[in-house]
Amino acid sequence: MTRLMNTYPPQPVTFVRGEGTVLWDDAGKRYLDFLSGLAVTSLGHSHPAVAKALCDQANTLLHVSNLFGTEPQREVAQTLDTLLGGGGKVFFANSGAEANECAIKLARKWGGYGKHAVVSAYGSFHGRTMLTLAATGQPQKHEPFQPMPEGFRHVAWDDVAALEASIDPSVVAVLLEPIQGEGGVNPATPEYFQAVRRLCDERGLLFIVDEVQTGLGRTGKWFGFEHLGVQPDVVTMAKALGNGVPIGACWAREEVADAFVPGDHATTFGGQPLATAAARAVLQVMQDEDVPGRAASAGARLTKALEAIPAVTGVRGHGLLLGAAITTPTAKDAASGALARGLVVNAVNDSTLRLAPPLLVTDDEIDEAVAILAEVLA
Ligand code: PLP
Repeated sequence: MTRLMNTYPPQPVTFVRGEGTVLWDDAGKRYLDFLSGLAVTSLGHSHPAVAKALCDQANTLLHVSNLFGTEPQREVAQTLDTLLGGGGKVFFANSGAEANECAIKLARKWGGYGKHAVVSAYGSFHGRTMLTLAATGQPQKHEPFQPMPEGFRHVAWDDVAALEASIDPSVVAVLLEPIQGEGGVNPATPEYFQAVRRLCDERGLLFIVDEVQTGLGRTGKWFGFEHLGVQPDVVTMAKALGNGVPIGACWAREEVADAFVPGDHATTFGGQPLATAAARAVLQVMQDEDVPGRAASAGARLTKALEAIPAVTGVRGHGLLLGAAITTPTAKDAASGALARGLVVNAVNDSTLRLAPPLLVTDDEIDEAVAILAEVLA
C-alpha cells in the first residue's frame, strides 16, 4: 500500500537511474526510454550540461522570489524571445498548465470585461488546473468537477467553419496545439492553422499556440507552429524547457504582454534560479548541437522503421513526437508488452502508441526499440 493519492494507475516499475535514452529500474533491469517522461527529457537523462548547471546554481543562489531580479531568468527570457522571432515578453511558471493559465488570464486582461471566452478544440489537452481543464476539449474529464469555470467553448478539430460559427463578441482567443499530443498525436494541417490565423486577424482575436508538448525541438523544428506557416500571438511552453526540472513559460508579443501590469499575475517559484539555470543550459545545448535538426533526421528514421512493421497501419506526427497506429493488440497491452521487454512507450488511445524518445537518440537505439516493438506487435 502506498501513501500516494489514487490519481494514477498502479505504477508497474520503479526507476532509479537514467543516462541518455537508457533507464534502469530498482532490480537493475535496463530500458530504452521512448517516452522521455512525457516529452520532457529531450536531451536525455542526466545530461551533463544540465546536471552541472543545476549543481553550480544550487551552490550559488536557489531562490529570492520574483520581487528581485536573477540572471538566468532574464537570459532565458531573452533566448526564448529570440527563438520566437523577437518583440515579445515572457512570464515564467512551473508547469504547462500554469503557462496556459497565464495565457488565458493574459488574454482576458487584454480583451477587457465582456471579451473573455476562449475557443479550443475537441481532443485537445491543456492541463489539469480548473481553467486549463475547462479549456481541454475532453468533456469526460470535466464531468467529476462540474461546474467548470465559465468562458470556454470547444469546436471540432480541423474544422474552420465550426470555429467561425463559435465566435461571438465575447470571444477573445483561440487556443490550439500544433499536434494534439494527449489527444492521440493528431497533427494540424497548415491550411487549418493559416485559416485560424486569418480568422483571428479579421475578428481581432489572439491566436494562442500551446507548445507545451511540441515546443523546443520535439517536432524537428524549434516550435510546432513553424511547420504550419503561422506566427502566433501567444506561445506556451514547459516540458522540455527544464529537461525534467519543473518550469513553464508563456510568451506573448509585446502589445499583448503589456496588458499585464504589476499585481495582475504572479508566482512564488516561477522562473526561480534553479529552474532557469537548467533552462539556460538546455537551450544552450539545443542551439550548439542543432537539436531540432537532429530530431528531424532521427524522426525520419524512426518513422520509416515503424512504417515497416506489419502491424503498424500508419504513423502520425513530426520529428520525434510520433503516434503509431496499430490494429492489434490494444495500444495499452502493446505498451505493457514493450515495458516487459525493456522499452518505454505509452498508449494515447486504444489504437495509438506514442513515441517521444530523447531528441539525441542514436540510430542504434532507434533500431533496438523498433525491433522490440515489432516483436511485441507480432
Ligand atoms: N498542454 C499540453 C499540450 C500538454 O501536453 C500538457 C501535458 O501533457 C499540458 C499542457 C499540461 O502540462 P503540465 O502537465 O506540465 O501541467
